[in-house]
Amino acid sequence: MGSEKALLTHSCTAALEMAAMLANLGPGDEVIMPSYTFVSTANAFVLRGATPVFVDIRSDTLNIDETLIEAAITPRTKAIVPVHYAGVACEMDTIMDIARRHELLVIEDAAQGIMSFYKGQPLGSIGHLGCLSFHETKNIISGEGGALLINDIEFVERAEIIREKGTNRSQFFRGQVDKYTWCDIGSSFLPGELITAFLWAQMEAADDINQRRLALWQRYHDALAPFERAGLARRPVVPTHCQHNAHMYYLLLPDLAARTRFIEKLKAKGIGTVFHYVPLHSAPACTAYGRAHGNMHHTDSLSDRLVRLPLWMGLEEHFNEVIFEVGNVLDGIGAR
Ligand SMILES: *Cc1c(COP(=O)(O)O)cnc(C)c1O
Repeated sequence: MGSEKALLTHSCTAALEMAAMLANLGPGDEVIMPSYTFVSTANAFVLRGATPVFVDIRSDTLNIDETLIEAAITPRTKAIVPVHYAGVACEMDTIMDIARRHELLVIEDAAQGIMSFYKGQPLGSIGHLGCLSFHETKNIISGEGGALLINDIEFVERAEIIREKGTNRSQFFRGQVDKYTWCDIGSSFLPGELITAFLWAQMEAADDINQRRLALWQRYHDALAPFERAGLARRPVVPTHCQHNAHMYYLLLPDLAARTRFIEKLKAKGIGTVFHYVPLHSAPACTAYGRAHGNMHHTDSLSDRLVRLPLWMGLEEHFNEVIFEVGNVLDGIGAR
């Protein structure tokens, strides 16, 4: 990944929690992030007593709208957490520039971003810290699993201690100290050996997995172009400076009712399609733990209209059937 250090964890959630500890956040501190993300992005910081501040997303990539970040910064802001949705990079040059000018940390939630690049740089290797997931729903998997990528050498020693229950056990194993002891806060963030053995086999197959996913993604993209031209659905947008990893193929339908019909009709054909995040700013826990900055127009609208199509290793043999039924259902929605 080109990082100074990569520490395997039992999940991306664990890596995010480690990042929040390394950021030394406390009550009253604020962390800017999109609302359109998984709960762990927010909870990792809430566990430290900090407040997630949600800003709206871009309508093209569904990533955090980098032009809204600066207005959300207050004297208590400590970090920005870009989430690379669907393995498509956030506008990292702008985000890193804002962070430098305001002396903020950048912690990339690259849970969906392994083998994706922003202007040639691997996602997770651009901010001060990056978090990867090897959960079974991601591209490279070990059931549960993750990694913390450390790009700023300043954090390496403390990260090892935090991962080892707040002890310097890693230094002990390297023969650097003659016993290990309690040094800092920490928890048990290490993955088990069986999980890492499984992950190693996935890593050996990573190029093949990536190529096959990209090929399936492109087949969807080509086959669905006429439906986009007819105004029946919008396809994903991947900016030319972003190399993605085909983590997800989604469509944006005209409205919530159309999406509901789409999911029901395909389910009746035995094809599972799913919507995605309930935006965090509209979730019950936000009242107690977070706040929105500015309006959440794109987040609200896009989260209502997004549907994910099947994309897994082995879809190849079912692809023609799936795309035929998806096309039929889109035509049906258009005819109403
Ligand atoms: C999957 C995911 C996570 C959580 O990953 P785990 O490995 O399941 O803890 C966090 N953030 C995002 C954006 C994700 O997609």
